[in-house]
Amino acid sequence: MFQNNVLRLLLPAFLALAVFVSTPVSADEVNVYSARKEKLIKPLLDRFTEETGIVVNLVTGKGDALLTRLQSEGKNSPADLLITTDAGRLYRAQQAGVLQPISSQTLETVVPESLREPTGLWFGLSKRARVIVYAKDRVKAEELSSYAALVDEKWKGRICIRSSSNIYNQSLVASMIVNQGLEATEAWSKGIVKNMARPPQGGDRDQIKAVAAGQCDIAVVNSYYLGAMITGKDEKQQEAAAQVGLFWPDQEGRGTHVNVSGAGVIQSAPNKAAAIQLLEFLVAEESQQWYAEVNNEYPVREGVESSELLKSWGEFKGDDIDMAKLGEFNAEAVKVMDRAGWK
Ligand code: FE
Repeated sequence: MFQNNVLRLLLPAFLALAVFVSTPVSADEVNVYSARKEKLIKPLLDRFTEETGIVVNLVTGKGDALLTRLQSEGKNSPADLLITTDAGRLYRAQQAGVLQPISSQTLETVVPESLREPTGLWFGLSKRARVIVYAKDRVKAEELSSYAALVDEKWKGRICIRSSSNIYNQSLVASMIVNQGLEATEAWSKGIVKNMARPPQGGDRDQIKAVAAGQCDIAVVNSYYLGAMITGKDEKQQEAAAQVGLFWPDQEGRGTHVNVSGAGVIQSAPNKAAAIQLLEFLVAEESQQWYAEVNNEYPVREGVESSELLKSWGEFKGDDIDMAKLGEFNAEAVKVMDRAGWK
């Protein structure tokens, strides 16, 4: 009788211990595949580990390469979370079936509807703007207005813009298709090709350098590249950046083209709960401020202060198009640019 009672008392403790012992170590870790460079994300992940005790294993790589890797790993992928840039790439991951929908009150409250996939496949974490930069000594800001106006005769041979294989341009063109339709967008693409100062080459920074070097007078680039050149250590880049002005296109219309960096939980995530916890951490106020500021981007969370540099560029109206649309119209955009002869 007595023994029986002792057993009854001790049994729950034994069971608890058994559960504890058999709990896999993976409950305390989360595996992140990130297209963002280590220095743009690692300090934040370390902070997450400090706060939660969850170890973050970080794999960094190029966005498209990480997606290929996820696809080839399939169900056996150790990855829990994919962090990548551009809604177009997030959509590709979605289409490839590597993401799973998650629901989170926090994420749904903090991340505006237009900046996330409606079923929770991915969420925007920062906003980036595609702007016009101009040579301050040759162009007046008053001469600029919208993306549409870039096909004006007066810009003939004066525009630098990167290749149509670049996802940022694809997303910009996708936004135009949504906004103005296929025909108008194709005509615009042809107009841009006509006005190019040179065949597309290099990245966004190279377009800014080309404007500074006098190879062209205006360029279309993501604003954080200008920010990186201004705040970076490379003196030549600082000098180049100092020669250009930043212009917010379409302030009278739909607003400057905005895109996101974002993340989604992997279909086969072994540590799903921890992945969601990390996502929620990434949209917390402090994280948002750091995450946006370190790359000169804009927070997706309302009411978070932006950096001094960003403040110096002034407030702007951003296009509030659904980010999901940029992905949906990506294939169309590629075809349109192709037909226009945009290399
Ligand atoms: Fe970029």
